[in-house]
Amino acid sequence: MEEKTDIKSLTLEELKSCFKEQGIQGFRADQVYQWLHQKQAGSFEDMTNLSKELRRKLAEDYELAELKTADVKVSSIDGTRKYLFELKDGNVIESVLMKYRHGNSVCVSSQVGCRMGCRFCASTLEGLERNLRPSEMLDQIYQIQKDLVERVSHVVVMGTGEPLDNYDNLVRFIRMLTDEKGLNISQRNITVSTCGIVPGIIKLAEEGLSITLALSLHAPNDEVRKTLMPVANRYPLAQVLSACGTYFKRTGRRLTFEYSLVKGVNDDPKEAQALADLIKGYQGHVNLIPVNPIRERSYVQSDSHSIGAFKERLEKNGINVTVRREMGRDINGACGQLRKSYMDKNKEG
Ligand code: SAH
Repeated sequence: MEEKTDIKSLTLEELKSCFKEQGIQGFRADQVYQWLHQKQAGSFEDMTNLSKELRRKLAEDYELAELKTADVKVSSIDGTRKYLFELKDGNVIESVLMKYRHGNSVCVSSQVGCRMGCRFCASTLEGLERNLRPSEMLDQIYQIQKDLVERVSHVVVMGTGEPLDNYDNLVRFIRMLTDEKGLNISQRNITVSTCGIVPGIIKLAEEGLSITLALSLHAPNDEVRKTLMPVANRYPLAQVLSACGTYFKRTGRRLTFEYSLVKGVNDDPKEAQALADLIKGYQGHVNLIPVNPIRERSYVQSDSHSIGAFKERLEKNGINVTVRREMGRDINGACGQLRKSYMDKNKEG
């Protein structure tokens, strides 16, 4: 049986040309696009300014991706919400809403699982299941905005998955999310985080997008980086940083360097100095993340003294640095842990 077209992954132009082929009037495409991307309609049935006949036809010809909320955990400390969403094929993914003074920020997943194998990360323990479609990335934000009844202003692609390993769907997702006929989120409020896939970074630099690129660095040299991130065997730091330099030159967007501090592995003041030397020439900002320990690995979070000393050393070298505030501490669990515990529970049951 032929698969139905995933209507929420189509751009307005594509929807128009599909409708044209089917003999549906052009302005209907505008109406349907608005229902899908501005009013977050859950079904064709909801699109009340279309005739019953047309709604029935659309339901026959198209698939409408709609995530089901399987679980939500709300922090009583700062309002952070962790969502577990179920996809049509039964897979589950995680998204997180964080409330900041500057707005509501959603952290979205880009894949079901991940194949990058970072040693400290829970999302990669079971490998990659499949890529998420643009519609499934968009719907994480749509569902959260509906639940919140407030506008989502910022999006970070820092949930499960490596966004540049799902490149085409990622770029389509960003274009649709920032489309003025959709949620119209500013490109400047979107951050994509990568473990350092060099060809992907270089390609992204040429897309004409004004989004922020965050690089997961986690070590000041290849030797330590390889012990934490298998991807470092494929792309040496020199190449990764040179690609980041290209990104900055082409887009004018300042880079973010993420550095998860692991006790006794990458948190020595000597490593802070090496990090400062490494990134001095880049217009970057360092985000220090005390590593979130996962049950399956023995990594331990750096103590607050080491974190402070690390930060100070970077600052002495004129590097702009922040320590990531822990959000939703009471509902915490490292990235991917909510999904993992849900899957383990279902396996046992
Ligand atoms: N694959 C992308 C985006 C997903 S992870 C990437 O690698 O950047 C988002 C960030 O969280 C990355 O910097 C990642 O290395 C970090 N991270 C993952 N698990 C973590 C943990 N247990 N503790 C601290 N940081 C973690």
